Amino acid sequence: MKILIIGSGPAGYTAAIYLGRSGHQPIIIEGLQPGGQLTTTTLVENYPGFPDGIDATQLMDNMRQQAINCGAQIVPNTVVETDLSRQPYTITLDDGQKFTTPVLIIATGATAKYLGLHEEQKYKGLGVSACATCDGFFYRKKIVAVVGGGDTACEEATYLAGLANKVYLIVRKSYLRASHAMQQRVFDNPKIDILFETNVTSLYGNEALEGLKLIHRKGEPDQSTSELAVDGLFLAIGHQPNSELFRPWLQTDEQGYIITQGITPLTNLPGIFAAGDVADPTYRQAINAAASGCRAAIEAERYLQSCI
Ligand code: NDP
Repeated sequence: MKILIIGSGPAGYTAAIYLGRSGHQPIIIEGLQPGGQLTTTTLVENYPGFPDGIDATQLMDNMRQQAINCGAQIVPNTVVETDLSRQPYTITLDDGQKFTTPVLIIATGATAKYLGLHEEQKYKGLGVSACATCDGFFYRKKIVAVVGGGDTACEEATYLAGLANKVYLIVRKSYLRASHAMQQRVFDNPKIDILFETNVTSLYGNEALEGLKLIHRKGEPDQSTSELAVDGLFLAIGHQPNSELFRPWLQTDEQGYIITQGITPLTNLPGIFAAGDVADPTYRQAINAAASGCRAAIEAERYLQSCI
């Protein structure tokens, strides 16, 4: 039976590997960014099985090839419309091609929010990152800045303080939005300096990032500007789950993450499973995404069995 998987990150590929091996013909709609978010980083050192780390693009190419070897068909296209009002569900691609399927695995991931400064793209992978767990290791004994005042920013600043010599936490408001416990960890850490009421206006550097231009108390009578030399800039201003196409039919939380039942990938619709970051506001790690892709494949298989 053909099963449609939307998304080509670790969740989508893992689901395809499992479904292919159990005799189905998974079709992966690859999307705009084949390989998913991981392809925006360089070396992956926290994915088990690679003692010396592995190039992120290589890791995703390996997963893709493994899915193909297990029988997956890859469709290099993007979904532009869905009709999940009835089974079989209908998916429309941007070339007008339509697929119908009784079983759908949604693994469309999430997108880190960036500030919108054009230099962010220039220094991506050369000092700018949106994942401290992925890239923090490259900033051992260096100076880094984290932008954001929520739990993610505090968690990332604390994590980076374990590696870097100095961490600046750049917060646009005069207070942190993070939970009390998380704030306390930041306040108690002597390596972290908090710059409240501060925004980043631009980034500078030659080949790689060398520093930030900042504005303090923007719009106030005592507004001022400064420069801050840093080796790394980590954005922690939230993620956007890629769930827009499904929101008319699937239950999502207030941030748009697809709600699944407990640790299962089951959504509120029969035969539709969500895996990876699109349903994970908390952990957002490739290994978790892969594991949830496995769970989605197993549940899809069980669902098909129950329909016979
Ligand atoms: P949040 O939305 O909670 O926080 C985003 C932060 O980024 C805010 O401080 C916000 O500022 C700031 N921000 C947003 N846009 C900009 C911008 N353009 N320029 C500067 N600053 C900006 O996102 P998080 O990722 O921190 O958390 C998401 C959810 O995940 C939360 O519910 C959180 O509790 C949860 N979480 C829980 C963890 C845990 O319990 N261990 C760990 C990590 C996350 P402002 O306050 O001014 O809007």
